[in-house]
Amino acid sequence: MHNVFAVIGAGPAGLYAADRILRTVHGSHVDVFEKNPVPMGLLRYGVAPDHPSIKRVQTSLDRILDNPRLRLFTGVHVGVGRGASSHADPHNDLTLSELRAGYTAVIIATGSSHGRRLVIPGSDAVNFHDAADFTAWYNSAPGAPTNWDLTTPIVAVIGGGNVALDVTRMLLCSPEELEKTDVAPSVINRYVHSAVSEVHVFVRRGPAQAKWDARQLRDLRSMPNITLNFDDRDFVQCADELEAPDAAQPDHSHKAVLRMMERLDRAERDDPGTDPDPAVDPAAARLSSAQDRQVYFHFYSQPVEVPTDDDGEVTGLVTDRTHVDASGHAAPDGEDQRTWHLSAVYSAIGYQPDGLGSLPLEPATGALLNKDGRLVSPDGRIVRGVYATGWARRGARGLVADTQTDAHALGDLVAADVLANELPDPADPLFDPITVLRSRGVRYGGIDGWRRVEQAERQAGIASSRQKAKISDMDELERLSVARPDDQR
Ligand SMILES: Cc1cc2nc3c(=O)[nH]c(=O)nc-3n(C[C@H](O)[C@H](O)[C@H](O)COP(=O)(O)OP(=O)(O)OC[C@H]3O[C@@H](n4cnc5c(N)ncnc54)[C@H](O)[C@@H]3O)c2cc1C
Repeated sequence: MHNVFAVIGAGPAGLYAADRILRTVHGSHVDVFEKNPVPMGLLRYGVAPDHPSIKRVQTSLDRILDNPRLRLFTGVHVGVGRGASSHADPHNDLTLSELRAGYTAVIIATGSSHGRRLVIPGSDAVNFHDAADFTAWYNSAPGAPTNWDLTTPIVAVIGGGNVALDVTRMLLCSPEELEKTDVAPSVINRYVHSAVSEVHVFVRRGPAQAKWDARQLRDLRSMPNITLNFDDRDFVQCADELEAPDAAQPDHSHKAVLRMMERLDRAERDDPGTDPDPAVDPAAARLSSAQDRQVYFHFYSQPVEVPTDDDGEVTGLVTDRTHVDASGHAAPDGEDQRTWHLSAVYSAIGYQPDGLGSLPLEPATGALLNKDGRLVSPDGRIVRGVYATGWARRGARGLVADTQTDAHALGDLVAADVLANELPDPADPLFDPITVLRSRGVRYGGIDGWRRVEQAERQAGIASSRQKAKISDMDELERLSVARPDDQR
């Protein structure tokens, strides 16, 4: 019996895990099922378009797709149940139990695409946005809003991680900067009328606990005509808190970010035209003294309310000052409340793993309940032959490099289980996804369809002197991706 594996999700985790299995399990085959019309997951639909270096990861994932022992099925939504029974979703094209019966093992790599909701009074207001919707919009993700309002000059971003800085940068972007990227022309058009000039970033904890990395801060600082404004009070409070007995000390990378922010703050006060960071492009640094775009960082600020006007539109943000205790936990002081006047709020407080519908989740991270990648049932037993990897396994955190490490470890675990004869033979060895999908009228695509999409995007790029331009029209994306009679793969 061949070892044939099913992977659910064609993001970085699913593709890196597939690659590792193909390399380590002799003669194995892998079928990858992806709900979107195209593969790549958040690499395509999350990572900011002005981060082209990380997008080059796509080249390595494309090489994985070239493996003749891998088949890709796009436009296929896998769920726990199908049809009208309880826990079932009529939109599911295949079910987990069908895959379990048809394959040696199933690897769930469904990642995350939904933002965690911030629930405070007023968070249902017009102009209160989930950062995940914004990132999906500028990346032209399936199901994303097709339009975005960028007409409000002063905006709040809530969150202390890399996505908060992505959103800040992307809010302040100019159409000229976007013309160097692969965003869809419809996205650039919206930026032509953008009025956003001032972003206030609110972080619940202090500068020592900021979760963004130095590169992200540097990318923001490198934007022409930008000033990053910090509040000295935050650094004083931070120093006091770190001096407290038993205070949790920042690790090496947090310390580097803290020092960088302190340097930026000092330099901006001493001489707003001087750039303290040698890594910053000097041309951009010179331009930065023009101070057209302002970013204000407000640490120790917990949002408590979003005031609105009679039309339900955001008019501001109310925050409570917090302090951070020795274990790194933030709590409001209850003494210092402030109202900020601004007209849009973006919540970037994290992502919620997608899972597969009704599978049990880890309460803290939202990840699928698992032990080192092996799926665990609600009563704590290992589910044989079902694994999870990437953001589905760890929760929504970590860069692509972390996801790759995780997926490789999972591939090795699967290979070890094959070697130890831990995996049962498939109950339905004749399972053929093509026959099943066709019988259900599912318009699935494959690798040839993905190559057509890539070709069309390169073609669209030529028209605007770019390497490529993303297709934002979902009908067009599907038309190109759906399998054609003469497709080979
Ligand atoms: C806004 C944002 C910006 C980021 N920027 C960077 C960056 O600059 N650098 C960096 O290194 N990392 C960045 N990351 C992190 C990086 O995107 C993740 O580490 C990585 O994408 C996680 O990979 P994954 O495969 O686990 O999940 P995903 O990338 O989410 O892929 C999961 C795939 O599974 C599919 N899927 C989900 N459910 C189903 C289902 N039921 N049936 C079939 N298919 C399904 C999804 O459509 C998706 O294609 C960013 C993340 C976000 C959210």
